[in-house]
Amino acid sequence: MNARLNQIEQKILKKERISAQEGLVLFNNADLLTLGFLSNFVRTALHPHRRVTYIIDRNINYTNICVAQCDFCAFYKKVGSPEGYVLKKDQIARKIEETIALGGTQILMQGGLNPALKIEFFEDLFRFIRNQYPTIRIHSLSPAEITYVAKISRLTLEQTLIRLKEAGLASIPGGGAEILVDEVRRKLNANKTTTSQWLEVMETAHHLGMKTTATMMFGHIETLEDRIEHLVRIRNLQDKTGGFTAFIPWTYQPNNTKLGGEKASAFDYLRTLAISRLMLDNVPNIQVSWVTMGAKIAQVGLQFGGNDFGSLMIEENVVAAAGAGFRLSLDEIKRQITDAGYEPHQRDMEYNLLN
Ligand code: SF4
Repeated sequence: MNARLNQIEQKILKKERISAQEGLVLFNNADLLTLGFLSNFVRTALHPHRRVTYIIDRNINYTNICVAQCDFCAFYKKVGSPEGYVLKKDQIARKIEETIALGGTQILMQGGLNPALKIEFFEDLFRFIRNQYPTIRIHSLSPAEITYVAKISRLTLEQTLIRLKEAGLASIPGGGAEILVDEVRRKLNANKTTTSQWLEVMETAHHLGMKTTATMMFGHIETLEDRIEHLVRIRNLQDKTGGFTAFIPWTYQPNNTKLGGEKASAFDYLRTLAISRLMLDNVPNIQVSWVTMGAKIAQVGLQFGGNDFGSLMIEENVVAAAGAGFRLSLDEIKRQITDAGYEPHQRDMEYNLLN
């Protein structure tokens, strides 16, 4: 095994792409520090400076009513529930104004699959935001929401994306990818997008000139093989389109969910972060997840392939509902980055530096 590990390490140090099998050999056999060394080598080659970026944006969960009812979700309410809501335009406007006052440049609107909200709702909302707040980027709607809006509006995926883009949608967050292996997705929840539907939304968006991110939620029922398969699917699409700006691996948060179980350990998180950096040689940026892992592990993550501290997260309700309780102010984010030995810089969704 040592000879095999050595061979794979040499490949990485020569900046060659590693295969799925080689990624799995590393995942199963390499020790933590070796993974840290290798992923930091790749990260430094891609980002030779000492900059670590962050974005100031706000999650706005415009509705919690959802027909998908994923087993790992603690956020949704069923149709007709007295606790269900849809935010009104003036409530959203207030949240955007607070975001701008804090130096924010973007809103990330995500919500449940609500049968009452067809495409006209989003077109009207996006036009309103674009006209009232032209400096704010609308980075919103995960592939599951877009697929669902297309379905209930009786439109093709492409028609839906073109209309949303014309109304002001600038880019799409990579949420809802969970693990892009259908067998795992079926076990987690039968009502949500399939692997190919998720990838199709991203591919269509990329072809329409929209950038997107990609995520992976791990540490539930999937195997290490499944995680590698997920990474290969992202890598293959990125080879075709180049439309992903960043990859964000984060751990499943079990509190208040039907699925239950334990949280993945920091050890597992750091190994997976490193493997993500090593496999995704064509995705420029990898985010650490301080919201789910806390600031200390996020700092360590900067030595395991991460080059971005993610978002200030002015408001986040979905993982908070499942027990992720970490909160940081802007000054704390900057301090965490500085204390880890890097320079903090604010960025936009496309990783242009803003300061
Ligand atoms: S994760 Fe999203 S799609 Fe699934 S139940 Fe929660 S809100 Fe609905």
